[in-house]
Amino acid sequence: MKRNVLIIGAGGVAHVAAHKAAMHNDVLGDVCIASRTVAKCESIIESVERKGHRRDPERRLHARALDAFDIDATVALIRETGSEIVVNLASPYVNMSVLEACLRTGAAYLDTAIHEEPDKVCEDPPWYANYEWKHRDRCRDAGVTAILGAGFDPGVVNAYCALAAKRYFDEIDTIDILDVNAGRHGRYFATNFDPEINFREFVKVLTWDDRQWKEYPTHAVKRVWDFPVVGPQPVYLSGHDELHSLSHNIDADSIRFWMGFGDHYINVFTVLRTLGLLSHEPVRLDTGQEVVPLKVVKAVLPDPLSLAPGYTGNTCIGNIVKGRKNGQAREVFIYQVSDHAAAYAEVESQAISYTAGVPPIAAAILIAQGAWDVRTMVNVEELDPEPFVDLLAELGLPTDVLEIEPGGPRSFDGTVRDLAEELPYATATVTVSAADPMIAVRARPEAVEP
Ligand code: NDP
Repeated sequence: MKRNVLIIGAGGVAHVAAHKAAMHNDVLGDVCIASRTVAKCESIIESVERKGHRRDPERRLHARALDAFDIDATVALIRETGSEIVVNLASPYVNMSVLEACLRTGAAYLDTAIHEEPDKVCEDPPWYANYEWKHRDRCRDAGVTAILGAGFDPGVVNAYCALAAKRYFDEIDTIDILDVNAGRHGRYFATNFDPEINFREFVKVLTWDDRQWKEYPTHAVKRVWDFPVVGPQPVYLSGHDELHSLSHNIDADSIRFWMGFGDHYINVFTVLRTLGLLSHEPVRLDTGQEVVPLKVVKAVLPDPLSLAPGYTGNTCIGNIVKGRKNGQAREVFIYQVSDHAAAYAEVESQAISYTAGVPPIAAAILIAQGAWDVRTMVNVEELDPEPFVDLLAELGLPTDVLEIEPGGPRSFDGTVRDLAEELPYATATVTVSAADPMIAVRARPEAVEP
């Protein structure tokens, strides 16, 4: 049994993870939240206590200041708190430092995003091979459990791939991962998690198609699909972390990722990017100061955590899997729906942070109980998905499965055509008014099938 959890980071995702860890501290033991700004850790603890979520009052829930780039300080904190499980929910820039601290102490390591270097964007695929997988042998030799990408996407959707292979298919042809947020936060523009990381994700699209990496421009390939609960929604072919391990570990011809975007988001994103405001390269001001435009944009956008009160609507994230079972063609959508208002009522958060923050704690519980304490480095799809999916349902993220008639009216067509054919369907038509900027947010153009 591994005990005592160190959560690194105090943003929206860590907020939810801390609630869930405290709710299961009878299994997980003491919980320490450490981040650069200790006040943010303290405010998470206030939220947990306000909700009465510390199940075992004898178990500590405490805050520490930590710069996770400082490996020695992280090692010292792991030792001081007796933490045997480290849940890294800080920015992806610190992954390698935190992993190193775990290797030095023997603590288990969990994260929810691939490592990134601040000055590099969308490196050569597969991204895990550039950083994390280089340490796989060290983890195995030291018996250190490291579970990579244990959020929702990456994370739960990786487990859905393993579940599809284990339970629903003998052969898989294609997997299309669809992520839609049909919620409304009432702000002119905001991202649902760290804006810097969010925008870096969409610099270009690297997708796994016909067993090879292919590159497309952002927001160039659009489909509209009739989702359960949230109805018809536009989704765009996007690059994403999980493709960089699934392409390696899951036997399928194509594994693609589609993210839902409204026309307003695409409009704002396109203006910011065209002006150069999403660049991670520093620029010099006439005052002599150097600034990174992307960091300026992050500084002026709402803190994702602040969106939670009053956020309404649902998220729907899942995998459309096509293949064969017992010689018959089959298509299923394995998915999860979360409600923003319900997430706020339960843990004072919104559903994006909720869907990302619950899974690493489910994974931590499985490590603590031994089922996932694999003593080497793995991506989520390499583990038995069933205990994870079952535990997620208990923790607030139940999974549903929709059977789709192969080739029928609801079937999802993820086949990517020539760019010239795709582009006309991907054009956004937006409503703007200088006199009433919020009209762009209120307007809801009808989605049109390509
Ligand atoms: P936020 O930006 O809201 O929070 C990040 C937190 O990490 C902040 O508290 C920040 O501290 C802290 N932090 C940053 N650098 C350091 C450091 N060097 N040392 C210690 N603390 C540090 O991010 P989110 O909560 O929205 O996201 C957290 C992670 O989850 C990200 O990696 C994100 O990519 C990932 N994610 C994964 C998802 C999934 O489904 N797999 C979905 C959504 C997010 P400070 O405030 O002081 O700067």
